[in-house]
Amino acid sequence: MNCVARITRTHTPSAVVALGRTRIAVAVVPSYVRAQSTTATPQSNQAGKKERVVILGSGWAGYGLAQTIKPSKAERVLISPRSHFVFTPLLASTTVGTLEFRSAIEPVRRLGLDEFHQAWADDIDFANKTIRLEGNTQSDTAGSKTATTRDTEKGPIFEITYDKLIIAVGCYSQTFGIEGVAQHASFLRDVGDAREIRLKVLTAFEKADLPSTSDEHRKELLNFAIVGGGPTGIEFAAELHDLIHEDLSKLYPALLKFVQVTVYDVAPKVLPMFDQNLANYAMDLFRRQGIQARARTSAPASWSGARA
Ligand SMILES: Cc1cc2nc3c(=O)[nH]c(=O)nc-3n(C[C@H](O)[C@H](O)[C@H](O)COP(=O)(O)OP(=O)(O)OC[C@H]3O[C@@H](n4cnc5c(N)ncnc54)[C@H](O)[C@@H]3O)c2cc1C
Repeated sequence: MNCVARITRTHTPSAVVALGRTRIAVAVVPSYVRAQSTTATPQSNQAGKKERVVILGSGWAGYGLAQTIKPSKAERVLISPRSHFVFTPLLASTTVGTLEFRSAIEPVRRLGLDEFHQAWADDIDFANKTIRLEGNTQSDTAGSKTATTRDTEKGPIFEITYDKLIIAVGCYSQTFGIEGVAQHASFLRDVGDAREIRLKVLTAFEKADLPSTSDEHRKELLNFAIVGGGPTGIEFAAELHDLIHEDLSKLYPALLKFVQVTVYDVAPKVLPMFDQNLANYAMDLFRRQGIQARARTSAPASWSGARA
């Protein structure tokens, strides 16, 4: 295998983002640094043809690399189950409508690639430089599916060849063995996830508002558990709080007393990658807003799915 590029990320503070709609600058967006590739310049092969560079994945690494390869230097082929790149730092805001979904994505076909196939790479034959692909005919927002939640219906299988191959398929979401998570909880990796979360929140409020719903069930429906006290979890908690208290409170004033937003993290503190003062500031603000942050606490041992 010719691995032609290496992507590294630093967690150096580079910009300040807002904590929910209150626009309180608290989290710092780590910057992405694309490392210089050692063998990145594609060359013509023996027959004088441009090298065929196949990139697996349209995420930060794959999409970023495809952007930098000059079309005159190589045949650029991109394979990904989703036809867009997601600007992940904006995802939390799209879940609550602060930003529209389309503002967080960039279609890969805009890159003017030689080939794009909306497909999963399933197998690589390194000896013959061939990749077996399974077309993704199910959903364009399948990017965050895990090994266990990927649709079982098979797409068409076909093969393509490469001269150089870059594998940038990211990683699967972890469930840490917690029962029910893969089936019932929502992940936040793609716009499909963001859309699902938005719908779940609104559906929970509608169900809770029905006269036939008991107060006990209302509490369950409006108990939002966020697993992960890193920048994404904290930002999402703030966005959700703002959505509930600034918008939904006007539509469902009687339901506010049943709402609980809790952030869980197994680490000793939330926002562990940031300065302690910054983390304290965020926690003080959360306390005043009624958001619970539970450090050193794992998520509920099983997930019933009643919650968003
Ligand atoms: C909500 C959120 C906010 C974030 N905010 C920040 C931030 O502010 N700063 C920061 O530094 N990091 C942030 N991150 C983390 C950052 O997004 C990831 O580190 C980054 O996406 C990793 O890039 P990647 O290219 O390795 O993988 P990904 O971006 O996950 O891309 C993987 C790609 O591979 C595709 N793929 C998967 N399987 C296959 C297959 N079998 N064949 C072909 N293609 C496949 C996927 O569809 C996807 O297009 C955030 C993450 C999330 C979820």
